Formats: sequence, C-alpha cells, structure tokens
Amino acid sequence: MNSQAHSLQTDTLQDPALAALDVDAELSRFEAEQRKELGLPPTDKPATQWVDATQPAFTASQRPHTTILVSGLTMAHDLFVQSALQGVGYKVQALDCPDNEALRFGKEFGNRGQCNPTYFTVGNLIKHLHQLREQQGLSTQQIIERYIFLTAGACGPCRFGTYVTEYRKALRDSGFGGFRVVLFQQSGGLKQATGEEAGLKLDPPFFLGLLKAFFIGDTLNALGYRIRPYEVEPGATDAALQQCKRYVAEALQTRQLLLPVLWRCRRLLAAVKVDRSRVKPRVGIIGEFWAMTTEGDGNYQLQRFLESEGAEVDVQLITAWILYMIWQARWDTDLRANLRGTDHAKKGLDGVNVRKRLVALWLADKVMRVCFQAIANLIGLHGYHLPDMDEVSRVSHEFYDNHLRGGEGHMEVGKLILNVLHNKVNMTISVKPFGCMPSSSVSDGVQSLITEMYPQAIFLPIETTGDGAVNVYSRIQMQLFKAKQAAKREVARALEQCGIDAQQLQQRLQRRRRLQNALHHSPHRVGCTAADLAYEVGAPTRRRSAMDAACRSGSGGGACTR
Ligand code: SF4
Repeated sequence: MNSQAHSLQTDTLQDPALAALDVDAELSRFEAEQRKELGLPPTDKPATQWVDATQPAFTASQRPHTTILVSGLTMAHDLFVQSALQGVGYKVQALDCPDNEALRFGKEFGNRGQCNPTYFTVGNLIKHLHQLREQQGLSTQQIIERYIFLTAGACGPCRFGTYVTEYRKALRDSGFGGFRVVLFQQSGGLKQATGEEAGLKLDPPFFLGLLKAFFIGDTLNALGYRIRPYEVEPGATDAALQQCKRYVAEALQTRQLLLPVLWRCRRLLAAVKVDRSRVKPRVGIIGEFWAMTTEGDGNYQLQRFLESEGAEVDVQLITAWILYMIWQARWDTDLRANLRGTDHAKKGLDGVNVRKRLVALWLADKVMRVCFQAIANLIGLHGYHLPDMDEVSRVSHEFYDNHLRGGEGHMEVGKLILNVLHNKVNMTISVKPFGCMPSSSVSDGVQSLITEMYPQAIFLPIETTGDGAVNVYSRIQMQLFKAKQAAKREVARALEQCGIDAQQLQQRLQRRRRLQNALHHSPHRVGCTAADLAYEVGAPTRRRSAMDAACRSGSGGGACTR
C-alpha cells in the first residue's frame, strides 16, 4: 500500500464523519447530478450482463437467393475466393479493397480504441451496404434478407477475437441491425446456428476451392512482385496478370481443369520483357497480417509506393499463414501431451490419440507445401521457399515467447532475424497498425533489440493510421536510400568477385536467352536480384554449377537459402 492510500485509510478510521460515509449513495447522487447536467434520462434499472444476441441462421434453403460477401485478403485472393465458392454453388461477391472512405465509416460506427484493421474492414462492409441502399435502391430489409458477410475470427488475445462483435455493433448503429455475419474461425471451423441444414456446407469441395484460390493468388502475387520492377515496357506485367486472373477466375467458377489455365498464365507472364540487371534493393514487408497484406489505403498502398521508388518488394504469402496455424496446433499438441494429468480443456487431448494427431498435422504441413510448390512451378514461380516454421520459432523464441499468440505472434521477430541471417533482402519494413497490441509491442520493443544485435539490418517499423501517409513515405524514402546503397555495393562486389564489369555482364546476358526470361530466377546468394544475376552470369561454368548444386542440396551455406 502506498503512503497516500495508507494516510487516507488512517484518516477515514480516525474521522467518524468519513467512516460513516455511504460511498454507494454518494456515487448514485453524483451519477444523478451528471445525468441531469448532460440531459440524460434518469435510470433506476440495475446493471445487467451484456449478451450478443444470436442472429438468424443462414440456412440451405436460403442459398439460392443469398449473396455471401467476402473480403480481407489481396484483390487476387478475394477474386479467386469469390470464383471458387461460386464454383461450388454459392452466390458470392468480393468487396472492393478497403479505402479511406471505409475507414471513415468504421470510425463513425465502430467502438473507440479499436485497431486500424478493424476500422478498415468493418467500415468496408458498412460502406458497401450503404452503397447497396443509396445507389442500388435496395431497402434495408432487402439487404438484411439477401446478403450475409463471411469473415475470419479467432479466440485470440488481440482484437481479432472481438471482430465479429465489432461488426455487429457497427451494423446495428448504422441501421443494419440483424444483418448476418458468419464467422469462419481462425481455429475451430465454422460457427453458425443450426437447426435446418446449414447454409455453408463445409465439405471437401468447399475447402479444396478455397485452397486453390489461396495457392494461385499467392503465386500470381509473388510473381507480379518479382517481375514488375524489371519490366522493360511499363504496365506489361499488370496486363499479363489481369488476363491470368480472368482465366483463373473463370476456371474456378466453372470448375474446369486448372492445368491448361495455369500453363496459359505461365506463357503470358514469360512473354513480359525484363531487364534484371537494373540495380534495385529488395525490400521485405512483414508485420501485422492484414496491414501487410492489404493493397489499399490500409497501408498507404505500400507495395506500389515501394515499386515507384525503385525497390523490388518481397511479400508474405497467405500459405505461410496457414502453415503457421498448423505449426501452432503441432506445438500445442506437443506441450499438452507432456502434461502429467488428463487435459479436459476445449482443445485438450483427453481421449485423443496424440501420435495420430501429430502425424496428421505433419502430413497437413507437407501436403500444403507440395500442393503450393506444384502450382508455383506450373505458373513459373521458381526457387520460392515457404518458411520453415520450426526455424522461425527457434530463432525467435528467446526474444518473443512461442506461447504468445495474437497477430503474427513470434513470426515478426523470426522473419526479421532470418531476413538478416540469410541475406534475404536489403531492407525490412514492419507494418504495425495504429492501436495494434501484438504488433506494436513487437516492433517497438523486441525488434529494437534485434536491430542492436544485427546492426547491418536496415529495418523500418511504420505505423498505419489511415492519415499520415506523407510522414510514412518520407521515412521510407530515407531508409530506402541506405538500401539502394547496399544493393549497389552488393552488385559491385559480385562483379569484382566474378572478375567482370557491367558491360561484360550485359554481353553475356545477351548471349544467354534463358536468363532474359521473365520467369528465370537466379540462385539466391545476396539480397539484391541484380547481384544474384551477376553471380550466376559471372561465375565460371564449372564453379557456377557446383555452387548451384550445393545450393540445391542445402550444403551451400546460409547465403544460398531463401
Ligand atoms: S493483430 Fe493487431 S491489428 Fe491485427 S487484429 Fe490483433 S490487435 Fe488488431
């Protein structure tokens, strides 16, 4: 007890007037005074526990006349999810990428003190419903009856756990009370009221469609970021990607065989003319899941801004996030299996065959990786390695406890360390949304320690609030200058080590058409793509093939691994 509290308690005991004070009565009197002053009606009802009312269910009979709204990933993913679900018989519409107008809707109808992604995503739904009412002339009742919103949720410790409640609150306050929000949980499957047959059938075609949408969306996005900075004709990559998206969306919607479509995409992307000898720093974007994934105002269109400033962008994929969830389940199972007593908790192992579960999770991880690589290689995303989740947890656990969940958990720290250790990029940007609990603590606290430990890291945490773009852009430009210098040094070192100059590099490139292909990917050695290319072109053939073989077999050291 501090000295002030102690003296107050002593005063109270000694002063009979204070001791006789009825604190509850005083509080009630004060409340009544304040209510009168603020013009609020008096209340004599006792406080009750707030309960989120159960919403009407989405049932199978409503499927033909109910549109499922989806949103929240990149534009390619949202489009493919829409097409994949249309392919298995649902009416689906992807919302636009959240913009600043969506943020304004979110702030107007959301609770105070939410994190930035909550405002953007909740506001985006309200904005769309407003448009349906104001521009398309639907009545509120028609909108409530004909549309539902499908979103992710979790029981996590951050605000992700309260998203669905936040959606409902904002919907109520904006005049759409009763609009159905169906929760697709981060773990635990789909939650909805049952009775009649559920409107969403969680069968293998449903999940298969979603996985295809994720894998292809990831691959096309990653390829776009690899090719676009080096395109010779501005806009050629985007034009090819637009066509690819159209073909894939149509194939998913009509459930055609994907193989020929993916091959067609490969040919389209391979036809983009590139010049990879341009020296550009590679910038890795990490951070809070939504903020680093969105492509709109939610992160000030960070990816496009970096490209316009002369950088190559390295993004995180949705597939990696799914692998993280599988890793979480494996980690939890391992720990729970060693408890001394029986674990009856919700996700406990009471009555569960632990070995079987671990094998199933191991298998799930492998199947995800094999399927992703198959699609990636088909379209032309060569040499891409999904993160090893055990390695990410191992390098980060001393700085960010692997038990902690919410947001990206330990992954933000692990990814930064691996970016430096494996020379994956020239610069790392961590996007942390304003008001985010896990990401703020990571970026502000732990990552400053990591940059102390690895002074060679060019690292920039940025906070996204919706406004303040100019401030963020100018901070990025300052760090990017350093990254550009680092990239130039890497190229100069590569040329020197290979004993060639820039002109000889160009001459050798002209002779080898394979290296000019947009889908060609040089073996990884350093952060900058042009330097990797210089090592590949400049190394004597025998040394080059020995080094490539070493990189492929994993014995080539850290510099080979990405
Ligand atoms: S991780 Fe941060 S930004 Fe994302 S939902 Fe949780 S609190 Fe919000």
